[in-house]
Amino acid sequence: MKENKNDIVYDVSIIGAGMGGLSAAGLLQKKQLKTILFESHYYVGGCAGYFKRREGFFDVGATTLSGFCDNRPLSKFINDMEINYQIYKEEIGIHAYHGDTELRYFSDKRELIEEVRLKFNYDSREFIEKITKIEKLLWNVLDEIQSFPKITLKDTLAVIKYAPQLLRHVSIFYKSFYDILPKDLKENEEFIVFLDQMLLISTQQKSKKCPAFVGIIGFLYPLDTYSSRGGMHGFCKAITDKIKEDGGNIHLKEQVQSVKKVNSLYHIQTNKGLYQSKKIVFNTPPSVSSKILNQDHEKNIIKKKELNKGHVWGAMTAYFSIKLSKNLRSRYHQVILDQEDKKIFETSSLFFSFSHPNEKDLIRVTVSTHIEKKLFHSKDDEYIYLKSRFKALVIICFDKYLKLETKQLKFDSVSTPLTWNHYTQRPRGEVGGLRHTSPLSLLRLLPNKVSKDVYYVGDYSFPGQGIVSVIQGSYNVKTIL
Ligand SMILES: Cc1cc2nc3c(=O)[nH]c(=O)nc-3n(C[C@H](O)[C@H](O)[C@H](O)COP(=O)(O)OP(=O)(O)OC[C@H]3O[C@@H](n4cnc5c(N)ncnc54)[C@H](O)[C@@H]3O)c2cc1C
Repeated sequence: MKENKNDIVYDVSIIGAGMGGLSAAGLLQKKQLKTILFESHYYVGGCAGYFKRREGFFDVGATTLSGFCDNRPLSKFINDMEINYQIYKEEIGIHAYHGDTELRYFSDKRELIEEVRLKFNYDSREFIEKITKIEKLLWNVLDEIQSFPKITLKDTLAVIKYAPQLLRHVSIFYKSFYDILPKDLKENEEFIVFLDQMLLISTQQKSKKCPAFVGIIGFLYPLDTYSSRGGMHGFCKAITDKIKEDGGNIHLKEQVQSVKKVNSLYHIQTNKGLYQSKKIVFNTPPSVSSKILNQDHEKNIIKKKELNKGHVWGAMTAYFSIKLSKNLRSRYHQVILDQEDKKIFETSSLFFSFSHPNEKDLIRVTVSTHIEKKLFHSKDDEYIYLKSRFKALVIICFDKYLKLETKQLKFDSVSTPLTWNHYTQRPRGEVGGLRHTSPLSLLRLLPNKVSKDVYYVGDYSFPGQGIVSVIQGSYNVKTIL
């Protein structure tokens, strides 16, 4: 056991500086609590992190921000943290391609409705108006429920407040998103291809399996999509600067190895020293958290969820820089692959994110896709071969769909589930959050409060996937802690 670093007793120790840990540390420090945040990697951000090259900072995985309208988590967070930070609303949240068809997910509802009419010959106004109203109610309810899966009196009152309106749409809680589509859209195979790939990136699930209430939030995600100055590096830096300015402590390259309760205090052993804290917030995968914990009770709660957590995707990512001769109208592009492309690499779509042109550096591009983790278990010849096939596919798509000069491309690297595992400690490189199949699968998420003094944030916990939900989870912890 390493020496005791000091006699300070922290109010809260946060383990892991992904978006969950960063936002929790920021909000708790603002609450005047004495916090310390531990991160095993040399940069913060986790799956929404970055890495540095001569061309500038690359986003490792997450690139888009959403949740800024109607006082949703991101706008609340930026205001509450008093972060002065440049974000850009994307007029086209996502530009998608399949064969010769292109679908632009405009942020403006009227333009989106017109695009659906043009591309699929269907007037979607009534449907889109209806689901945007439901989406608003769902976010309001999420903001009021902090003790999931236990429902307190306060939660019940909140649900009752929104219940009359939500009850009118009760089927969203037992039907799939596909089931609530208007008949003409259901029968439009090309629309379903676009919809499924869109839902896959926003909810990790396709329309026939995705619970309708999850799908509504996921389908409308591009209407509220933002890019940020300096990408995730800019966003993470704005948060860490504020945490430090508010008196919080951030320890990088410091991996937490064990947490043990002695009398009323938690003793936190890292690779660098020993710390004491009254409360703990975990932002680590359940398997890592249960290994760190010595308490049977808390360890068991987390372990039970871990065994029960269902399927989680892996990711494959490729990084390039490029000199653009034309200005792109959208930063975010989704290429849905055809049979020919799939011969090169077995995946269904690629997501291209371009850094903002207002920056002086070269444009950096992060390309990601879902992948079955089991394809990658060791760094053998097959592994190297799959990486080069993935790189080849991405280069073809730059040319074939985005119509960009591949001569201007500079390749940086490809990462696999093994890379994700290495940098984020996620078992077998699983990323993105749980694939929900029904409302009951919400119960597989960890509660934000595990026990009296142990809390949980991040995309394994309520309310789940993506930066916007992860930050909502940190708000829940701020309220209940
Ligand atoms: C390729 C890809 C693209 C995505 N795109 C988007 C997007 O565009 N928009 C969006 O909103 N979401 C996106 N997501 C999802 C989003 O990135 C995640 O949901 C979110 O970032 C998860 O944050 P987290 O805090 O839960 O976990 P993590 O990011 O995994 O953070 C956990 C942190 O804990 C640290 N850690 C682990 N063990 C220890 C230990 N023992 N001691 C100290 N530290 C430890 C890890 O190093 C890590 O930094 C994407 C995800 C991926 C993989």
